[in-house]
Amino acid sequence: SSSEQLVQQYLQTIEQNDDQLHIFNQVNPAALEEARQADHRRSLGEKLPLLGIPVAVKDNISTEGMRTTCSSRILENYDSIYDATVTSRLREAGAIIIGKTSMDEFAMGSSNQTAHKQKTRNPWDPSRVPGGSSGGSAAAVAAGCAPVALGSDTGGSIRQPAAFCGVVGLKPTYGSVSRYGLVAFASSLDQIGPLTNNVEDAATMLNVIAGHDSRDSTSVSFQKPDYTSFLGQDVSSLKIGLPREYFIEGMDPTIRQQVLESVEHLKAQGATVQDISLPHTDYAVATYYIIATAEASSNLARYDGVRYTQRTSEASDLTEMYVKSRSEGFGAEVKRRIMLGTYVLSSGYYDAYYRKAQKVRTLIARDFAQAFQQVDLIITPTTPTTAFVSGTKSNNPLDMYLEDIFTLSCNLAGIPGMSIPCGKDADGLPIGLQLYAPHFEEGTMLKAAAVLE
Ligand code: GLN
Repeated sequence: SSSEQLVQQYLQTIEQNDDQLHIFNQVNPAALEEARQADHRRSLGEKLPLLGIPVAVKDNISTEGMRTTCSSRILENYDSIYDATVTSRLREAGAIIIGKTSMDEFAMGSSNQTAHKQKTRNPWDPSRVPGGSSGGSAAAVAAGCAPVALGSDTGGSIRQPAAFCGVVGLKPTYGSVSRYGLVAFASSLDQIGPLTNNVEDAATMLNVIAGHDSRDSTSVSFQKPDYTSFLGQDVSSLKIGLPREYFIEGMDPTIRQQVLESVEHLKAQGATVQDISLPHTDYAVATYYIIATAEASSNLARYDGVRYTQRTSEASDLTEMYVKSRSEGFGAEVKRRIMLGTYVLSSGYYDAYYRKAQKVRTLIARDFAQAFQQVDLIITPTTPTTAFVSGTKSNNPLDMYLEDIFTLSCNLAGIPGMSIPCGKDADGLPIGLQLYAPHFEEGTMLKAAAVLE
């Protein structure tokens, strides 16, 4: 079918779902026109990897011609003034940005319920959350509002919603996808990646978005493989590690059982499986929430009511203008993190918290380096629970922070991680299986994922 028909179908699905699921912050008003242009280009014989394919983009990624709000009141009317590198790479590959997806405000959260508006719900059960912070992108793919989407992952924000919505989510190696045009949350952890219906689409998306970019100083120059070439490769020589710290008492027994059953499947293909240890796992949550909030407090200082939108209408001097603009513009979770981050960076506490966290981060990264001397790949559950009912964790921030217990070590170490669907629990809700590989070994992850799918 033509791209125009395709886009029309997806736009219809978006509209049908909006009342109940609240997935999109904005739909691209030019999507149909762009689809017609794509059809024209195709009729001229042009061949591009994503020609005429609609892509949903998380609302913290800059897209010229549309807003970029981070689901925050403070950026509610902010028009993107340029394309992020990933956006231009999508456009160069022929893709059509179909719309901007809702997210936890400034990507802080695990439920999508900290969004200022459009608190996305889970397509499998709208009383439940889609996960977060890329909950809109995960729900968009799961509900058929877009065939593929982009999200960002600072501590699990691609993989956890992918698990909750039953889709594939991949966080690439830190430095392999440009962050130019991604609104910064915690710059040493943030990475953009795809959410898709299957492993092959994830590989195709990675082919388009990965690669060096001189506009991002943390971008790495590396030999980029064709990620789709790993699909269907033999897995019989793979050594797989199961970290005992990730199969803990108290986790949902169905999740444990389903993940271990999938591992059996790899074993049947000749892969060997062994227990491993990542001994500093216990410190990951505390370490992450010190580093992430410290970086966030610094990154969010730029929203001062002057350079971006949303200035208070009632202030009698400059300081009052700053304070009121920020007080009115940021939600509770964002404020909590700015305060925490400012505290751990303050001169009296820097050594006790921030510097200590940096040291523990090194130990966590070393855990993985040591594990990867014994195994090629690590398999864990993506989350300790399946999608929870909206509102059940919002009153207790610490409870919410524990949602990330299996996902955030990956960002601290900078390694790639991926979540793929792995059966359902007793309520019929999707379960996620997580794969970890060494830096720049996305291919190993993809070939194992393709076997498990
Ligand atoms: N849920 C984690 C947090 O709240 C991770 C968010 C993310 O990866 N952007 O910080």
